[in-house]
Amino acid sequence: MAPRDGGPLGGEQRFSVYTGAELASDAAIPTAAQLGLEPPRYCGQCGRRMIVQIDPVGWWAQCSRHGRIHSNEIAGYR
Ligand SMILES: [Zn+2]
Repeated sequence: MAPRDGGPLGGEQRFSVYTGAELASDAAIPTAAQLGLEPPRYCGQCGRRMIVQIDPVGWWAQCSRHGRIHSNEIAGYR
């Protein structure tokens, strides 16, 4: 199951979810491959710092603009 469109990790990643830095256009980093091990800290769509909560079954991260994503939403995306 792919992340829903419009979420922090939906669509093409424009910012690193770990550093918040803008990604180069040719940096096709499979960010989702790393997720599940470590929660994202920044929104991949806008680079905003996200609220991150870790729970016993995973984590969720929330962007004030793009909403919340839970680790179970990307479980099949790796
Ligand atoms: Zn965002």
